[in-house]
Amino acid sequence: MRTSPITQLGFLTLAIILMLGCSSTGGKYENSDNTAYLDGEGKRRGLFGGRQKKKSAPLQNPNINIRVDPRLARSLTYSRVRTEGPFIAMTFDDGPHPVHTPRLLDILKRRNIRATFFVVGTNARRYPQLIRRIIAEGHEIGNHTVNHKYLSRISIEEARAEVLGCEKAIVAACGVKPRILRPPGGHINDRVKVWLKKEFGYSTIMWAVDPEDWKRPGSDVVARRIISETDPGEIVLAHDIHGPTIAAMPRALDGLLSNGYRFVTVSQLIAIERRSVARISSNDNNLLSSSIPLNGKKRDQ
Ligand SMILES: [Zn+2]
Repeated sequence: MRTSPITQLGFLTLAIILMLGCSSTGGKYENSDNTAYLDGEGKRRGLFGGRQKKKSAPLQNPNINIRVDPRLARSLTYSRVRTEGPFIAMTFDDGPHPVHTPRLLDILKRRNIRATFFVVGTNARRYPQLIRRIIAEGHEIGNHTVNHKYLSRISIEEARAEVLGCEKAIVAACGVKPRILRPPGGHINDRVKVWLKKEFGYSTIMWAVDPEDWKRPGSDVVARRIISETDPGEIVLAHDIHGPTIAAMPRALDGLLSNGYRFVTVSQLIAIERRSVARISSNDNNLLSSSIPLNGKKRDQ
């Protein structure tokens, strides 16, 4: 059967419409392919680096190279140190956690911040790869017992097993022996502190700032407390096993950085206290000899 000229015209028109449609769609993607490329993370970025769309980079903690010497820790216990500089130490207890700790490590890395993790032995055994990542990224690891036991409420034999067990789990995971311990729940007494120092060489690390994040007051409250309650030389307590705590960290850390604070590990903080400004060698970080103005309200008071 022959098709009529009208039907032929209809087919031709339809074919032209389809071709135009396809070529215009193809052209659209072709154009965007020409003006965009995939970066290493598989994200589509514009020809000019997608600057308009790019999230602004967070504030950066400077590189702070302070030689740590365990012999510098002369005190039995620390919750803060005396320092003229704006140095503080963030500490995270009870991890590592398989979800929250990696998120926190990413947040810290983006800001070039080194923190201190007081890990529980059972978690260190379960997630040795996270212990290795913590060390590989320049953070410090401290002992928080194997089973989160309150050291002042158990026998000396039990306490020894708790402390040694956690130490062994950390060493087995990353090869680095911790030199500081935080007593679970803050339950400690002078007798146990002396024993920890004499038998293991551990300094007992408490805290000066407690946002009570474990009570889950919400990320806003946790961030606000950390920013408003922290003073130079202080050790800040938080827990990397709670999602809202991790969610509070970008704001808390950026707030502290913009107020002029600089982050170091607990052992670096202890080392800072032991140095007098006059004895600082030129090799040491300039931060120690030049005072960074604190923009926060506390400095003005
Ligand atoms: Zn704890």
